[in-house]
Amino acid sequence: MKIRTGQCLCGRVHYEVRGEPSGVGLCHCADCRRESGSAFVMFAIWPRHAFSSTGDFSTYEGRSFCFACGARLFNLTDEEAELRVGSLDMAPTDLKPTYEIWAKRRENWLTALPDTHQHHEDQDHNSASNAF
Ligand SMILES: [Zn+2]
Ligand SMILES: [Zn+2]
Repeated sequence: MKIRTGQCLCGRVHYEVRGEPSGVGLCHCADCRRESGSAFVMFAIWPRHAFSSTGDFSTYEGRSFCFACGARLFNLTDEEAELRVGSLDMAPTDLKPTYEIWAKRRENWLTALPDTHQHHEDQDHNSASNAF
């Protein structure tokens, strides 16, 4: 089974995910822009049982980060572990987005990725049907 590892910038928090993600996407929403300080985020979703971590982290409204270095890491629920792909140790990764959400917030100089589902606003991050 494929294992991918990741960590925060200072190395206090480490994690791993086992198996393949159920979804990989880009989010351009205003909250993701603000939390990341960047134009968009790339996320990937695994079942919660495929995820484990070591080290203490903080969580704000479901968004977990290292309290020491501030690096964004993941969002954990009972069902899912949604990773910020930039926190993986691989750079570049072997993951590719299949959909984009909140496309209406996408920077004007960016274009839609080819061969991806485009969603004007939100949808469940893990169901890539309902392209508009
Ligand atoms: Zn850290
Ligand atoms: Zn978002």
